[in-house]
Amino acid sequence: MLVLLGSAGNISMAATPAYQLHWQHDFSAAEQAKLSQWLAFSSQATLNQLGPYPFEMQLYLYRRPGNEPVPWANTWREHSQQIHFYVAPQFNKAQFIADWTAYHEMAHLALPYLGRRHAWFAEGFASYMQYQIMQQAGLIDSAASHISTKFAVQRKHYLQQHSMADTAALLLSQRRFAAGYWGGAQFFVVAERLLQQQGKAPLNQQIQRYQQCCRLQDTNLQQVIRSLDSVSDSTVFSQLLQQFNQLPAAQFLQLYQL
Ligand SMILES: [Zn+2]
Repeated sequence: MLVLLGSAGNISMAATPAYQLHWQHDFSAAEQAKLSQWLAFSSQATLNQLGPYPFEMQLYLYRRPGNEPVPWANTWREHSQQIHFYVAPQFNKAQFIADWTAYHEMAHLALPYLGRRHAWFAEGFASYMQYQIMQQAGLIDSAASHISTKFAVQRKHYLQQHSMADTAALLLSQRRFAAGYWGGAQFFVVAERLLQQQGKAPLNQQIQRYQQCCRLQDTNLQQVIRSLDSVSDSTVFSQLLQQFNQLPAAQFLQLYQL
């Protein structure tokens, strides 16, 4: 197995390399060059927004036939912070870079694994951040408009008495992934807005601070929320979580005009 070290070039304070590549299948030299450049770009774009991370990402690559550049990917956290990318190497570098998957998966690693019950939070976070990262990298014009377009088609699922969190969790358990993800992402849409209203730094900067103080300590959602309140010197996150857990979803959407 060939292992390459990578680093996010413009993050001078990062003591550890940003990531390590693991080629799990045979890839030609040209394919390796293309995929290495894609992951260098993706990690730099992600860490510019959310990092540096206080750990090295372990990136595993597998071949898989598909009609998109990354037909499947997932994170795995047992012994290290891993992302497994199943890639269709016939696509070109620009097509890999334009694909949202790497930004989504790398964003996941900004938070600890939160358990199945809180998958709505983890997926909402990664879904929200993938477009923030892509906007910052110049790949899309407006993250906000992408996110609201994605949620618009799922909004009907949330016009009801169960809470936002319960509804998103139920949709995920029914494998209605887009519905669960983009409902969960509304937590971060509102958090961003509340931070701005209170004169606080934007969410991505709060996540950057979180990496340094708390990322390696926290192991559950309650701790993450407490840490995010602390780094933002606010109660934005705990109060919002309470509303996300307790208000009827329809009322939540009305309250925040979502
Ligand atoms: Zn995800």
